Amino acid sequence: MNAAIYPGSFDPMTLGHLDIIKRAARMFDDLTVSVLDNKAKNALFSVEERVSILKEATKDLDNVTVDSFNGLLIDYARQKGVHISVRGLRAITDFEYELQTAQTNRMLSKGALDTVFLTTSLEYAYLSSSSVKEIAAFEGDISQCVPGFVAELVYEKMREKKL
Ligand code: ADP
Repeated sequence: MNAAIYPGSFDPMTLGHLDIIKRAARMFDDLTVSVLDNKAKNALFSVEERVSILKEATKDLDNVTVDSFNGLLIDYARQKGVHISVRGLRAITDFEYELQTAQTNRMLSKGALDTVFLTTSLEYAYLSSSSVKEIAAFEGDISQCVPGFVAELVYEKMREKKL
């Protein structure tokens, strides 16, 4: 079985993430999209909320499952018996960090976990979860950045935060 994990913060999931998920789902028999529970990052959505957004967005993709994890990716991947991590690359700015992470994971896992990079579709090259949050904080239009139902949830969260 050709399986992969797509790990990330997904706070929130954007159309750029969804594009990578759809393309990776065509390459692997089984794709697990997994939300990293990173307490160090001050997230807008809880891990449970991020998982539920990803589940809704991928409900029509039969070979995609959504999960969450904490700790090291290599330990999580070993538990699941998966040897490939998928990551998206937007610009050269992503490259340095992603290269370092991929090499560290290969070293730590003694070669058991390798990383496959998918380059962003050009229309999403500018997109990031942090820019979505920044635009929404000023009530800007995020309809081109996230699915409609996610946009509603982001605006709702922003309103809650301001109260
Ligand atoms: P991180 O896991 O670093 O906290 P994210 O959750 O934002 O970051 O992203 C998870 C993965 O998706 C990363 O590999 C990131 O480069 C990739 N990604 C984010 N936005 C896009 C995009 N617009 N197009 C392609 N890949 C993306």
